[in-house]
Amino acid sequence: MTATGMGRAPSNREEAEALDRSDPLAGMRDAFHMPEGLIYLDGNSLGPLAHNVRERVRDVVEREWGDGLIGSWNAAGWVDLPRRVGDKIARLIGAPEASVVAADSTSVNLFKVLAAAIALNPSRRVIVSERSNFPTDLYIAEGLAALAGQGHELRLVNDPADIPAVLDETVAAVMLTHVSYRTGLVHDMAATTRMAHDCGALAIWDLAHSAGAMPLDLTGADADFAIGCGYKYLNGGPGAPAFLYVAPRLQGRAVQPLSGWFGHAAPFRFDSSYQPADGIDRFLTGTPAVLSMSALDAALDLFETVDMAGLREKSVALCELFLARVEALCGEFDVTLVSPRDASVRGSQISFAHPGAYAVMQALIARGVIGDFRAPDILRFGFAPLYTRFVDAFDAAEILSEVLASGEWRRPEFGVRRAVT
Ligand SMILES: *Cc1c(COP(=O)(O)O)cnc(C)c1O
Repeated sequence: MTATGMGRAPSNREEAEALDRSDPLAGMRDAFHMPEGLIYLDGNSLGPLAHNVRERVRDVVEREWGDGLIGSWNAAGWVDLPRRVGDKIARLIGAPEASVVAADSTSVNLFKVLAAAIALNPSRRVIVSERSNFPTDLYIAEGLAALAGQGHELRLVNDPADIPAVLDETVAAVMLTHVSYRTGLVHDMAATTRMAHDCGALAIWDLAHSAGAMPLDLTGADADFAIGCGYKYLNGGPGAPAFLYVAPRLQGRAVQPLSGWFGHAAPFRFDSSYQPADGIDRFLTGTPAVLSMSALDAALDLFETVDMAGLREKSVALCELFLARVEALCGEFDVTLVSPRDASVRGSQISFAHPGAYAVMQALIARGVIGDFRAPDILRFGFAPLYTRFVDAFDAAEILSEVLASGEWRRPEFGVRRAVT
């Protein structure tokens, strides 16, 4: 049985339509602006615009900023946004109140928490991660290791199964992305965190592809630090602020190096020397980006009534449907599944390798099916369950098979590389 309760994927469109009619989340799609004629399977890269977000941004610009000017820092609560937004995210990731703040970008937040982690483990010099981790995570770790100037090094595994073998008394931190951006493979957060702790290391989780896509339990997993993205499944808009989590048991001891005034115990005392705030606020740095933080704040309200277990069930069902249809229709083409077949260890995406993946994706986009290409040869399709329909998954597989069967992807214009893929 799949999570849809059906024994097999629909073989005709009417069955997919029936799944949409019985989908408890179906109504959520109306909360978003979804351009006509598009099948949007890229919400794992940039979530769509929700109507309440558009209204909120207009109100913040026109009323709070336009009329309220500087008074809005207090009157409109701008100064509390990092914590208010952080608490909304905390509910989605299984974290308590006052353990999450929204701030900066994912990359910058990783710098802060990784620096805090290695400072908590001063006798150790190794940061363990995966070679296939999202590049910015590895670049940040490399940069930090060089800056620390104490011989810190990155130890990368090629396969998650190799992690236990590289954990020893030299490891300060294990830094992993919970759901792989390329394949969608899900790490066992609790088990890996336990392994890290057993060897005396701290565990840092990047939730860029899991927050808002599945239930998470940072407290239950005993994670030390986490970071994640505001513009993917959380729909906060392009370049939305990211978030970071610090386990309450570490908050009094963990210090981060970007010691700006918003992380000070009393920013408006204007002291000449730094004294970190108590608790999670010390992980803030400078003035919050109020416009984009407000957009994220409004976008998170859409999750308020969402049952995350039900959301995950729909995510699995969408992915299973798409996978089954692609395999039924595209078997004779050079399409290879690179996502796990087992839905229990797969995030909200399906990725295939194809030798002409870049051009195939361009041809799909020209047909109104928006997924993305990830170098060197991956076609990536995200199934954000808040607004994606079963008919979208059904139709996308159909159109992919047409693009491959007709060979239209071989047209020269589809081979021209753009800056953002
Ligand atoms: C998307 C993503 C990021 C993005 O980082 P930015 O600082 O927002 O550019 C970082 N890590 C992972 C794993 C991602 O998927």
